[in-house]
Amino acid sequence: MALPVLNTARYTTIVPSLNKEVSFRPYLVKEEKILMIAMESQDNKQIIRAVKDVIKACVLDEINVEKLAMFDIEALFLALRSKSVGEKIDVRLKCTACETLNDINIDLDEIELPDGSVDSIIKLTDDVGVTMRYPSINDVEDMNQEGGVEEMMKIIGLCIENIFDADNVYSANSYSKKELNEFIDGLNSSQFQKITQFFEELPAITHNVKFDCVNCGEKNDVELKGIASFFT
Ligand SMILES: [Zn+2]
Repeated sequence: MALPVLNTARYTTIVPSLNKEVSFRPYLVKEEKILMIAMESQDNKQIIRAVKDVIKACVLDEINVEKLAMFDIEALFLALRSKSVGEKIDVRLKCTACETLNDINIDLDEIELPDGSVDSIIKLTDDVGVTMRYPSINDVEDMNQEGGVEEMMKIIGLCIENIFDADNVYSANSYSKKELNEFIDGLNSSQFQKITQFFEELPAITHNVKFDCVNCGEKNDVELKGIASFFT
């Protein structure tokens, strides 16, 4: 006879960039173990891989996790974390004045999700412009941690969806890497900046925490950003 099934709870949440509702089950001990090991490693690639695997296991609807934007992954992970472990998490934050660690309680359900509908059309001249897509978790995973201009060029090349002028729209898919690189190389400095700005302003899950330091009384205002900062 089969043993009883312990956990059958189902919840729903929204994938911001798709504006799509998906159902999921909370993660279980086997998945929490994967996450703990990854977080302990403090290796970004390992953390991303673990979070991705857990989302794939727990989201019950058909979605292509590899193609999701980073903030989708963060939103899904927070929803999972909230229903799996609890809405309240404790984080230890360093006082900016005396560096004492303060224990702070955060309610995950109070964290606002970013709006995925940021304008992705960038005008480069009066007539010519590009439309961009958000980098997917796969793009981010492949990126070199050190970053630098080469990485920036690579990610721009990956994320240009269309190039347009007054008469036509040119789908980036129909052009070779070399042709796209030549187009990027032909940008002037202010045009290049407009594009890098798109990446600097990507939607992300952030949460401001205000606390008075237990040691020195300093009024701190700290911004939490990225999955790792919400995980304890
Ligand atoms: Zn302090």
